[in-house]
Amino acid sequence: MGSGNKYWRAQHLKGEMIIVSMVSLVRVKQDDEQGIFEAVRRSLEIIGGIDDIVNPGDLVLINPNLVAVPAGRLSGAITRWEVCKAIADLVKEKGGRPVIAESSAAGVDTEKVIEAGEYAQLRERGYEVVDLKPTPPAKIPVPEGHKVFSELGSWELVQKADVIISVPVMKTHDQTEVTLSMKNLKGLIDDAQKKAFHKNGLLEGVVDLMTALKPSLTVFDATVCQEGMGPIFGTPVPMGLILASKDLVAADAVGGRIMGYEPKDVMITVRAAFRGIGEMDLEKIEVRGDATISEVERRFKRSSETIMEGVPPFELMMDEGACTGCRNTVISAIMDLKDQSLEGNLEGKYVIAGPLNENLLPPGAEKENTILVGICTKHLENRGTYVQGCPPNNIFVVRAVVGEGQKIERRYATEEGADDQAKEALLKGKRRGKNEGSCCH
Ligand code: SF4
Repeated sequence: MGSGNKYWRAQHLKGEMIIVSMVSLVRVKQDDEQGIFEAVRRSLEIIGGIDDIVNPGDLVLINPNLVAVPAGRLSGAITRWEVCKAIADLVKEKGGRPVIAESSAAGVDTEKVIEAGEYAQLRERGYEVVDLKPTPPAKIPVPEGHKVFSELGSWELVQKADVIISVPVMKTHDQTEVTLSMKNLKGLIDDAQKKAFHKNGLLEGVVDLMTALKPSLTVFDATVCQEGMGPIFGTPVPMGLILASKDLVAADAVGGRIMGYEPKDVMITVRAAFRGIGEMDLEKIEVRGDATISEVERRFKRSSETIMEGVPPFELMMDEGACTGCRNTVISAIMDLKDQSLEGNLEGKYVIAGPLNENLLPPGAEKENTILVGICTKHLENRGTYVQGCPPNNIFVVRAVVGEGQKIERRYATEEGADDQAKEALLKGKRRGKNEGSCCH
């Protein structure tokens, strides 16, 4: 696995400020294969090159975001191949063996996404592009200090990698506000493990994943980003940028800030910094390259701001303690309902998320019409249909809203058996109200 996190030793002084980490910010001057190669090369030179990361003979795993088949390869939903190819070429220059490897969202055929993203042409040109799903499996232990998982379902190729490079596309996300370098690593775990993340604790689970894989580097494809209903259905935002850092927490803090999020508003960033695996304080991160953050920042439309036209009246109660995970899960579940013309089921319902005091339950909220979202509502489980998870998967919320009678689908993954799992999870929650794993507080 990755040798990672050499930046931790790279503290130095700049004026009176302690600069812990560095992030490069480079403009793509020419939006084609050569122009992107030049931008990637410069982004890596600025952060000191990759001599300290890649040794001759190293297996270097380059992990793009190929979550699901996008509306178009340049819709900002998936990492474009030009960025991965540029990294692969630079790894080859150092004598490493680059392998571009990914597993798409649970239930999604990665090969279809590889095809949609036009990565197949890289194979024809001799690059290794691997769909991890059919490759030999392996369990990867999570070091001491883990919060959710002690081991992760993954693949031998990931286990054997000497270096791991996360190559996200910069976009909003319906459950985690943004998906950047750390969350992108979910592409290196198997489908069962991905589902377990959503049931047992996505936010701390991603930080566990970081500590297990120890990625050495991230390069952001911020050429065309995505805002609104990410990770798939948002609107493309051309930015013409490449970012790189050896500190993934710092890169995510900077990337998020460019999109208009303070680091403290992105829970994966906060929890990773809290566990000491990188720096999120922008005062301690040096941004070098063609522009400052303020010169390129643009407020991205949040997933939660997507307009809910045509949804019938219902009560949505988000306690102020409800974090973005549950907020976006609920919004995304409503979008799922709309996509399947099931939004009528919301009428008259009470949907509650966060650690709401029982005394504040509205008078009309009865067991039959109340949906309790996430383990923060576990104390109310006898007052409605309880949906376990932290945050729960969207489909569990959708199932709780529509009840047992109707067939439902996940929106962006034709996940075999997903509806059955949702039913089973709800039944389990009703029967026992436990086995949820740890809370992300
Ligand atoms: S269950 Fe609670 S802590 Fe977990 S994501 Fe939801 S609101 Fe946040």
